[in-house]
This record gives sequence, structure tokens and C-alpha cells, in this order.
Amino acid sequence: MLVEQFLCQTDNISILLHNEIDKTTIAIDAPDGATIASKLNEMRWNLDFILITHHHNDHTEGISVLKEKTGTQIIGPKAEEDRIQGLDYAVNDTDVFHIGRCKIKAITTPGHTAGAISYYMPEEKLVFSGDTLFSLGCGRLFEGTPAAMLSSLQKLSKLPDNTKIYCGHEYTERNGQFALTIDKNNHTLQRRMHNVVTLRRQSRITLPSTIALERATNPFLRYTDISIRKNLNMVDASDEIVFAELRKRKDNF
Ligand code: ZN
Ligand code: FE
Repeated sequence: MLVEQFLCQTDNISILLHNEIDKTTIAIDAPDGATIASKLNEMRWNLDFILITHHHNDHTEGISVLKEKTGTQIIGPKAEEDRIQGLDYAVNDTDVFHIGRCKIKAITTPGHTAGAISYYMPEEKLVFSGDTLFSLGCGRLFEGTPAAMLSSLQKLSKLPDNTKIYCGHEYTERNGQFALTIDKNNHTLQRRMHNVVTLRRQSRITLPSTIALERATNPFLRYTDISIRKNLNMVDASDEIVFAELRKRKDNF
């Protein structure tokens, strides 16, 4: 599977996947129809499906242009089908489907929005987490509780270590600056931030990450870590309380 990612709007990451054997092409979300269409032209790929992670405008506004230009069909979360114009197929938690040879599993990951879905391709070892799991961060809680987001992130963190993560925004550097405020002695995080800063200075995208790397460096997966808990003065608090505190601090960062 070839993966092409590029920035659109200000910090949305557009992702195109192309299977060289069966020639199918999949987009993850549709942040900007014109930019995605010109990338498809450049690659000479014909778009077959768009997998929508959640209903927010910056993930769906390219749908109508791309449907018109390419005839693509749209797959998205069942729980948000009334809020996504142009949806052709709705998927629920644990649904498994194929596009060409590619097996895809829908994992509901509410928190950022109530019906958000992450798409997992077990054979390709890829997961597309939209605005749920970011590299070094997680999405804001617009339609969910900390408990909901926590359990969504737990589902993703249980995927195999070497699963590559692609997400909806290039927020890694800012997320990492926050992570360092509460996890400053984490050497893996320090090293990673060094790489992230280098990539961003060259205007390069910092994704993909991996599940193992996120588990080692993302504060929103590290709420059980004793040094983070000590920094927050929350050594004995429940996971949910620690997670909520992390999310609150990030909101105000
Ligand atoms: Zn969003
Ligand atoms: Fe977004």
C-alpha cells in the first residue's frame, strides 16, 4: 500500500492510499477537495472510496467536489450519518469490510465527537485515528467525556506495537511542547521532539508514528506513569481523573 500525505487548509493532513496490485485508491477524510483532486491527478490515481473519521467540516468539506470529480463513494460513522452530507455507507464499531484486497476494521473512538471512527487495516499494520489520537496528543473533547476519550485511546493503544498511526492534523510539535511540561525527564520524548523540530523546520510532516512510540511518549497514554503523576500531584488519583487533568491543562496550554 502506498501512502501519500500532504497538508491542506492550515494543518489538516490529507491522506491517500493506493494499492498497486488492484489499483484501488482510498482517501482518509476530505479536508480540501481541490488539493486532493490535484494530488490524485499528479499521482494518476482514481479515487474509489473516502473513509470519513468524523463529521467536522475540516474533514468533510471536500466530499461534494470529490464525488463530482471522481465518482468516489463515501464511508463514514453510522452514529454521525445525519451530519455527513453524501455518505454512501455507514459503519459501526467492529464492522469489517474490504476495499479491493484491503481489509479494514472500524473502531468507534468517541470523545472528540460522539460517533468518531478510527479505521484499522490489520494486514497493512496501519491505523487512521482522525482527531482522536494525535501524535503526542489527543483531540479536544467536543462531544464526549474524559472517560469516553480515555476508553477510545485505550482501544487504539492495544493495537500491535508496530502499527503505524496516521492522524488528522499536524499538531505534533505543539503537542510535544505540552508533553515536555509534565514529562520532561522522558528521554524517548526528548529525542522524539528533537526529530519533530527538525522535520517541521523543513516543513515536513511528522507522521506516521507508531503505537509503541505513542505509548512511550504521548502523555494521554501515559496517565499511569508515576513521574507524570508526581508532577501533577496526583499519585493516587484514578486514571480518569489524571486523564481529565491532562486534557484540561492541554486546553489551557
Ligand atoms: Zn475534528
Ligand atoms: Fe479536525
